Amino acid sequence: MKIVVVGCTHAGTAAVVNMKELYPDSQITIYEKNDNISFLSCGIALSVENVVTEPEKLFYNSPDNLASQGIVTNMKHEVLDIDFDNKKLSVKNLVTNEIIEDSYDKLVLTLGSWPIVPKFEGGNLENILLCKNYDHAKTIIEKSKNAKNVVVIGAGYIGVELAEAFEMRNKNVTLIDAENRIMAKYLDKEFTDIAQEEFTKRGVNLVLGQKVQKFEGTDKVSKVVTDKGEFEADLVVLCIGFAPNTKLVKGKLDTLSNGAIIIDEYMRTSKEDVFAAGDCCVVRYNPANENRYIPLATNAVRMGTLVAKNLVKPTLKYMGTQGTSGIKIYDLCIASTGLTEEVAKSTTSLNVASVTAVDNYRPEFMPTFEEAKLKLVYDKDTRKVVGGQIISKIDLTQFMNTLSVVIQNEMTVEELAMTDFFFQPHFNKPWSLLNTAALMAL
Ligand SMILES: Cc1cc2nc3c(=O)[nH]c(=O)nc-3n(C[C@H](O)[C@H](O)[C@H](O)COP(=O)(O)OP(=O)(O)OC[C@H]3O[C@@H](n4cnc5c(N)ncnc54)[C@H](O)[C@@H]3O)c2cc1C
Repeated sequence: MKIVVVGCTHAGTAAVVNMKELYPDSQITIYEKNDNISFLSCGIALSVENVVTEPEKLFYNSPDNLASQGIVTNMKHEVLDIDFDNKKLSVKNLVTNEIIEDSYDKLVLTLGSWPIVPKFEGGNLENILLCKNYDHAKTIIEKSKNAKNVVVIGAGYIGVELAEAFEMRNKNVTLIDAENRIMAKYLDKEFTDIAQEEFTKRGVNLVLGQKVQKFEGTDKVSKVVTDKGEFEADLVVLCIGFAPNTKLVKGKLDTLSNGAIIIDEYMRTSKEDVFAAGDCCVVRYNPANENRYIPLATNAVRMGTLVAKNLVKPTLKYMGTQGTSGIKIYDLCIASTGLTEEVAKSTTSLNVASVTAVDNYRPEFMPTFEEAKLKLVYDKDTRKVVGGQIISKIDLTQFMNTLSVVIQNEMTVEELAMTDFFFQPHFNKPWSLLNTAALMAL
């Protein structure tokens, strides 16, 4: 069996290592247009902050390692076209410019995503950077060394992490977003208020509810102009969001209007023997019971693994996602899963309500204890839990992984209230915070 994989970051790497194990006699060829594989962008902010001392530590696989397993990795090779009817592809060697043809029995598309870059006046000035891959990480680290005023545009997870990292490196940081709150898609206001206060305390300039209009400067950027103000900048990082990188298959495979490849629960695309996984695809979003575009490494590794399991025959179904995510902002450990109350109200027809438990995470007789805030979002009609968020200075983020399982299995607040969780004074109270919050909803 001749397998060709296009793109090799998280989804691609997960697919190839599992395919080699399951089908040891197969011939696996990877085409990757970059000069590296398996870079964990999730660690970029940590390496900007120097918590991770070199970005090279963020790789977890290599072409040499894959070669030792008999997998051929062609780096700096971009797939230019695919003839799905004849199972052929044309590939450009980006070093020699040579175009080669190849063929496949099974094709795996793990094309990923690319940052959204709106057309701004002055957008071509130097020092306006993206934050996605290894090259970007190196450039951000290098250029930020001498930067004084850093502007981060986009206050989602990535922008927020970078803002903290730059502030920790003693930069003057401005974080701009068109929304009125940071991380507005992932957390409700009670939670972002706490995070915003932390940023403000540390001197990060939060510029919210403002839209970037243009950049000014001679060669290098010197100013970011919004609809309401102007901000000095010698370095700008655009963190506006991601779009599926699927120009290659446009009009050839079924996609959503944003280009995300539509796959079934076995990772099959609309063409026979063509599979897709990761950021280039739609995912089933369980809390809203619909397909959404949620680019996350967690989805990518699961989907890549499922490609391998289902390559020969449908074997293991994708269970969908709750979009569970976590973030640490200074001392605050924050996580969320499923729908926030605000997103549920604005994007679904669910009749949602919420309850919020605020309590010390363990008994007050212990030498130390910290407050935790846990919110549950549920559907008043079906009683099903559809989302949750937690914030504390203690790492209680695993509660959201538990809640992810609760949502996945469509449990009600009544069931969650009476679910068995352990008690031990080191860790918690007799009623788990999840029980406590769910009890409030009864
Ligand atoms: C800064 C940052 C922080 C993040 N933090 C987190 C986090 O904490 N948790 C989390 O779950 N997720 C996080 N993510 C998201 C996560 O990194 C992505 O979901 C993940 O990278 C998706 O993996 P993928 O393999 O699907 O796609 P990608 O990583 O986009 O990789 C696609 C690959 O395909 C290659 N390719 C594309 N087209 C072609 C072609 N025509 N020919 C050859 N090769 C091609 C590309 O060069 C690339 O290597 C973060 C992302 C960023 C940028």
